[in-house]
Amino acid sequence: MSPVSIPPPQCLKKRMVVPQRYMFGPGPSNVPPRILEAGANPVIGHMHPETFEIMSQIKSGIQYMFQTQNRTSFAVSGTGHTAMECAIFNTVEPGENVLVGVNGIWGERAADMAQRIEATYCYCSCCVVRLQALSKHRPVLFFLAHGESSTGVLHPLDGIGDLCHKYGCLFLVDCVASIGGAPVYMDQQGIDILYTGSQKVLNAPPGTAPISFSERACQKVFNRRTKPVSFFLDLSWLANYWGCDDKPQRIYHHTGPVTAFYSLRESLAVLADEGLENSWERHQKVAEYFHTGLESLGLKLFVKEKRARLPTVTTIVSPPGYDWKEITSYIMKKHNLEISGGLGPSLGLVLRVGLMGFNSSEANVDMVLEALRDALQHCHRSKV
Ligand code: PMP
Repeated sequence: MSPVSIPPPQCLKKRMVVPQRYMFGPGPSNVPPRILEAGANPVIGHMHPETFEIMSQIKSGIQYMFQTQNRTSFAVSGTGHTAMECAIFNTVEPGENVLVGVNGIWGERAADMAQRIEATYCYCSCCVVRLQALSKHRPVLFFLAHGESSTGVLHPLDGIGDLCHKYGCLFLVDCVASIGGAPVYMDQQGIDILYTGSQKVLNAPPGTAPISFSERACQKVFNRRTKPVSFFLDLSWLANYWGCDDKPQRIYHHTGPVTAFYSLRESLAVLADEGLENSWERHQKVAEYFHTGLESLGLKLFVKEKRARLPTVTTIVSPPGYDWKEITSYIMKKHNLEISGGLGPSLGLVLRVGLMGFNSSEANVDMVLEALRDALQHCHRSKV
């Protein structure tokens, strides 16, 4: 009797086919040829000197992108969620309090993560509640999403870091949807932990997540009473693997995704070539051009206050009388273009369009506007 009873699957005998598609949802965004080609370089060892050199270039790129001098700046192997857990699992111990700013889904997820490590959490929705909560609950960590991709809100960051520090609290900011598209100054704004993902403005494939810890954050992490719940995300291991500590030797922790590092390195090089200020300005200009075009189509923007609009991901009030799912499917089928519906609290309420990194251009805005105009003409509309 043959020991192999499950035959090779027929589906694996066919060639894999992946379509070209316009990726104008909230992420991932399209990967330009320069970054794709970087990822096609040969695999070498994750502990080889050449890989360490590339990792060191990534660290410098992250310091530039985040505007920080923190030496504990590196990329987590994983997506934005991995970095989010890395931040929370390292800085918070069981029984401690976490304060979570809520302006969409990401605060809810941060609260869920805190709960899993037996920390307590409370929410705040505005400055006054935040101040009360900081003095009353004495949280060790305050979480805020700078760019809330579910609602399309850009949250101001100035002044919050100083306030947190006054109450002995670390300031954690999620800039997955905003970095490179809107200004963030990690050191000047007193942000203690900042993270993002590779697949949005950076236009690299998903799978690596830049993160940085301030000295204040490192002090808290390295003086814990308990070990962080995750071995994989333990900052002392990761800091050593990325050469951020004083140890003479780097010790094997996990096999770094080397080809993903090549792509990330190149995406940071593209951002450095353009310059942060130019990139922020381009995203803002293109977003305003897009918003004007949407209004001339008769569509409404979900975020009323102009200053609070995220320039990378636009939320459009779901057109009354239409089924948002029919609109997104129509546009995908007819225009080969991804836009998406809402997420969490915005589900059913909005359409979301992401124009990030090299996707952020007036030509792409025209393409999305044309697709929307066509969908509004051809999708079923009920009387409202
Ligand atoms: N935070 C924000 C603001 C996001 O937009 C996303 C991705 N949509 C995440 C966190 C999670 O990132 P990932 O999907 O890469 O885990």
